[in-house]
Amino acid sequence: MINLRQVSKTSTIFSVYRRLVNKPLLSSPRVKGILGFEHFFVQAKHIHTSKNTKNNEVKIIYSPKFLLHKSPRYHPERPERISETEAFLRSVPGIEWAEPSGCSSKDRIQTALDILKTCHRERYIEEVRELAQAGGGWIDDDTFVCLESYEVALLAVTAWFDAVDSVLKEKKPAFALARPPGHHATKYSGMGFCLFNNAVAAAKYAVEGGCERVFIFDWDVHHGNGIADIAEDMVNLRYCSIHELGNYPGTGRPDEKGKLGNLLNIPLQKECGWSSGFEEAFLNLVIPFMKDFQPDLVIVSAGYDALHSDPLGHLNLVPDDFRKMTALIKNEFGSNIMWGLEGGYDVTAIPQAIKCTLSPFLTNFESLPES
Ligand SMILES: [Zn+2]
Repeated sequence: MINLRQVSKTSTIFSVYRRLVNKPLLSSPRVKGILGFEHFFVQAKHIHTSKNTKNNEVKIIYSPKFLLHKSPRYHPERPERISETEAFLRSVPGIEWAEPSGCSSKDRIQTALDILKTCHRERYIEEVRELAQAGGGWIDDDTFVCLESYEVALLAVTAWFDAVDSVLKEKKPAFALARPPGHHATKYSGMGFCLFNNAVAAAKYAVEGGCERVFIFDWDVHHGNGIADIAEDMVNLRYCSIHELGNYPGTGRPDEKGKLGNLLNIPLQKECGWSSGFEEAFLNLVIPFMKDFQPDLVIVSAGYDALHSDPLGHLNLVPDDFRKMTALIKNEFGSNIMWGLEGGYDVTAIPQAIKCTLSPFLTNFESLPES
């Protein structure tokens, strides 16, 4: 068995820095007791949603509350990943903006918690809550929990649920622009910047809502070991990951098919780009695995660390390659697609890449200025 802890996701960038500073986080002056949910709701800043949503073609679920999950300085998984994206995409026509339902509904938070308890060991979820309540700390070399992280992570799950609802109830593709990410979070623990497994929770939520077959496609540069760990017991879920061979966490070999045969791993060599490996794998392996399953819903674990400029990955995608993947999935499954943010650490490239991801559903995309 591979020791998942043997490789640090950010070993060359961040963990070294952290060991140098190594401040005892539990004595942080920010520790004043965890915010209760009441306070959390009162603090909610309602973001502006489009008044006329009739002509909007895709939905983005976003809240500034997602910025409250913070790791110590220089951590690559930082709030700007989504705040910069929000600022960039606000001017793009055809996008409806919505606040996560968990901002205003305690029932929705409870639903998230109930479904998470079927994804993770209940004690682990409690450990995250307790760590946050105590002011925060590290759960592994890479993964930090701050005072607000537990509540923000639950809110993120509701954003992924809302994206599912948008697809199933409104026939509108949707993007959960939320953090923290989740695809490394296993049954037993968070790791690799991930606390709760948003993608599997969303898949379970979709199944509870009547979906018979859900497909999770993970284009993050890292293998989603957490999704694979939980999904391998689920008969109504297939999971496919394209990732960089040898990168964190070291799992995702082609022979890891799961006991039900519902997992497909496609590791690519370093430096692979769209026309040098990625396209071929996508057309010859991913699409047939999807078509064979005929999913009611495609959930994309949308990480952007396969971009050539990403500091943690060594693949060579460009933003427009995400447009190609969405267009190919759209050709097969129409608008039955949602995306949720996983990794991606080049803050200047993520906004453009997400715009490209959505673009096959945006009528006016071609006339948009390039950035
Ligand atoms: Zn990643």
